[in-house]
Amino acid sequence: MKNFFDIIIIGGGPIGLACALEAKRKGLGYIIIEKGALVNSLYNYPVNMTFFSTSEKLEIGGVPFVSNNIKPTRNESLEYYRRVAISAGLNIKLFEEVFNISRKDDLFEVNTSRENYIATNIIIATGFYDLPFLLNVPGEHLPKVTHYYKDPHFYAFQKVLIVGASNSAVDAALETFRKGANVTMVIRDKEVGERVKYWVRPDIINRIKEGSIKAYFNSTVVAIREKEVDIDTPEGLVTIDNDWVIAMTGYQPNLSFLEKIGIELSADDSRKPFYNIDTHETNAKGIYLAGVICGGMDTHSLFIENSREHAEKIVNNILVHVHVTD
Ligand SMILES: Cc1cc2nc3c(=O)[nH]c(=O)nc-3n(C[C@H](O)[C@H](O)[C@H](O)COP(=O)(O)OP(=O)(O)OC[C@H]3O[C@@H](n4cnc5c(N)ncnc54)[C@H](O)[C@@H]3O)c2cc1C
Repeated sequence: MKNFFDIIIIGGGPIGLACALEAKRKGLGYIIIEKGALVNSLYNYPVNMTFFSTSEKLEIGGVPFVSNNIKPTRNESLEYYRRVAISAGLNIKLFEEVFNISRKDDLFEVNTSRENYIATNIIIATGFYDLPFLLNVPGEHLPKVTHYYKDPHFYAFQKVLIVGASNSAVDAALETFRKGANVTMVIRDKEVGERVKYWVRPDIINRIKEGSIKAYFNSTVVAIREKEVDIDTPEGLVTIDNDWVIAMTGYQPNLSFLEKIGIELSADDSRKPFYNIDTHETNAKGIYLAGVICGGMDTHSLFIENSREHAEKIVNNILVHVHVTD
């Protein structure tokens, strides 16, 4: 039957693809529905980004990932996941967003921006990269403000304000500074983030110490205007000239989507979705979680390296009680 599958996988990131490879290997009917491009999160990472993982740790479906250096670049990862998807002939719909999942007896109906589908099982692998934490200040919606840093060249000879002090913020600050931007950082805490890669941290600390990158610690942005930004600092309100704001304030998973379809979340700050650690099935029977979404608001505990294994656990459990579709 058209549009009827053993498994509908929501999200075509590395872990959604891993689930599809596993389903295919085990003879199950599946489809991936992805709202953006193939591996959309990785596509939206900074163009010069290098993974902290070595390439073999990013492999899925047992397909070797060979990169020029030990740690692959974003471009190499796009090439790899694209090749994997093409050579396996994965069944994937791109630029199609899932809006809702509803239960009809033992089946699920999935409504997207284009079609309706029916499945016996659902795997949600929607990641955490679509919803940035907002600054919630006046001017945040000006076109000069971005939550997704891409390419340093754009900022040459410009006055750039970077909000945050995590890996993404520090990479953006150093890259834009080295391409000729006049960089200021606004950092909520008293120092650069502890999780910043150990080989990068001294670089940013020394640039701040020598004054080539200006940093306001214990400070927050309070307003953004076309040519200026107001910063609340321990010394009082400071207004600086500004052309662009790069707000690297982190991202959060779409947990309200999970709640809407009946998945329970923990009451603590992590708001971790409820699922069985061995099978990844949630409290909503037949709905599974895979990848970084499993961590709830704790978006740092799971990444590609340590969530690839979800695919096999999930598909093995589905196999126990599925009638394979024709
Ligand atoms: C700068 C940076 C560097 C990183 N480096 C590493 C590294 O070196 N090693 C490592 O292991 N991890 C790394 N990570 C983390 C890693 O990229 C993520 O953990 C990984 O992308 C998680 O894979 P995923 O498939 O769970 O989610 P994602 O890759 O985020 O995929 C989720 C997909 O779901 C889609 N989606 C969301 N909602 C819907 C919907 N309603 N309908 C349809 N589709 C939807 C999204 O468009 C997206 O493509 C890095 C992350 C960042 C930001």
